[in-house]
Amino acid sequence: MSMAETLLIDGQWRGSADGATLDVINPATGEVVQTISQATVADVQAALAAAERAFPVWAEMSARERARLMHRAMDIFRGRLEEAARLLTLEHGKPLNDSRKECAYSADVIDFYAEEGRRLEGTHFAGDLGPTHSFVLKQPLGVVAAITPWNFPVDLLAWKLGPGLAAGCTFVIKPPSEAPLAATLFVRSFVEAGLPPGVLNIVTGPGRTVGAELVTNPISRKIAFTGSTATGLWIAEQAAKQLKHVTLELGGSAPFVVCDDADLDIAVPEALRRAFSHTGQICISVNRIYVHRSRYDEFVTRFAEAASRLRVTADGIAEPDADMGPLINQAGLETVRQHVADAVERGATVLTGGRAPDGPQYARGYFYLPTVLTGVTREMRVMREETFGPVAPIAAFDTLEEGVRMANDSPYGLAAYVYTSDLDKAFYAAKHIRAGGVGINVNDITDIRGPFGGMKMSGIGRELGTPGMDAYLEVKHVRVRIRPPR
Ligand code: NDP
Repeated sequence: MSMAETLLIDGQWRGSADGATLDVINPATGEVVQTISQATVADVQAALAAAERAFPVWAEMSARERARLMHRAMDIFRGRLEEAARLLTLEHGKPLNDSRKECAYSADVIDFYAEEGRRLEGTHFAGDLGPTHSFVLKQPLGVVAAITPWNFPVDLLAWKLGPGLAAGCTFVIKPPSEAPLAATLFVRSFVEAGLPPGVLNIVTGPGRTVGAELVTNPISRKIAFTGSTATGLWIAEQAAKQLKHVTLELGGSAPFVVCDDADLDIAVPEALRRAFSHTGQICISVNRIYVHRSRYDEFVTRFAEAASRLRVTADGIAEPDADMGPLINQAGLETVRQHVADAVERGATVLTGGRAPDGPQYARGYFYLPTVLTGVTREMRVMREETFGPVAPIAAFDTLEEGVRMANDSPYGLAAYVYTSDLDKAFYAAKHIRAGGVGINVNDITDIRGPFGGMKMSGIGRELGTPGMDAYLEVKHVRVRIRPPR
């Protein structure tokens, strides 16, 4: 595969039809990491046609054989995990240990679903109205367009490919323009494992052309999308016109609720990690912290002090265990600056951060210090919108009912976290917070066996777990008349 032949269409690595390329930039240095091909609409159409031709081949293969190929692909990928993790750090800026973790988890997801595919079952029952017997079969949906974001470009692709491939679907993948390299290496492992040509195709390029063709072309029967709510809404509108299936994992604004009886030795470091790792660029990042008034001062002091000691790296490979790197691009940095400026104008106090870190190593990248705000109110953009950056606003509440109301005061409903030692409070909050996932004394709602997805403006459908597999299957009812033997 030469440098600018990075499209994968029908088993061939190719350049784009018009030779166009795009540069992948290291957000820590502004340097070009690699130049890749930029697909044309004709390339996307060729990829969709290839996926359509490959669909009966892949769907007819036994689940056992599909699983064998998926496992083999992950054996190959694990052999190049370090290479993939380095690429991910260069294109995204996250510290190498975070990249390693993402790549390793992605392989686990594929292995998990390879076996889930072998365990797929339908149901059967005796007919309700007479001498019939019914079988309910699960069959693969067809060609899937997988459109993924730059924050977890390998992981969020694995969440789609794992269940989809195991179900028998074929894919056209559009990785994010900002960070397509590690994801492409991930897919290369499947090709080398011997997947039939056309089962996986990659078309890199802008969402507004490449992504739009994937969404509107009648060949794709499902759009599996992770990204912003704005793009997700547009995709939902387009998909509705052709009644395509969608899984939309969109923005979030996760609340972190600290009750009066919380163990701050656990709550402070866990809030810190979930607010600032990946530079706050996770859909389940902590965006709003609500602390019971009786613990507010103590929490704020400890949290701000710990935030001021976090290590921001301009070289995530040399400092693999740093806490965070840069933001992904200038637009991301601008959003953070604007949200902090808006909060300060409306009366918030910056306890730490609120600016770029000092030092020549940070001069060329999109850096912003871990930032803690107090004196925040619900009107502030930082409380209403997804900042997608290293900013943690903290507010106080008096009763848990009020804390839950504040947690729900958002158009989003993806993740929420509650820290308490009281079972009643834990269950009350878990029941009443409107979010697709609630962590009780744990700062991550991701488990391969648990459904992951959003309520309200955070999305439709679930990934991971059993629902994550069902999302790639159609249900078919086969009804058989049972006649007496003649
Ligand atoms: P987008 O939603 O624009 O991008 C996500 C993916 O969708 C990318 O691959 C993008 O392509 C593609 N895309 C963009 N427009 C279209 C379209 N019309 N049709 C089909 N595909 C399209 O998010 P951004 O990367 O621009 O990030 C903006 C904000 O979105 C962030 O600041 C954050 O708030 C939120 N976000 C949330 C994520 C989450 O995990 N829930 C992940 C990423 C972002 P390309 O970028 O190559 O043009």
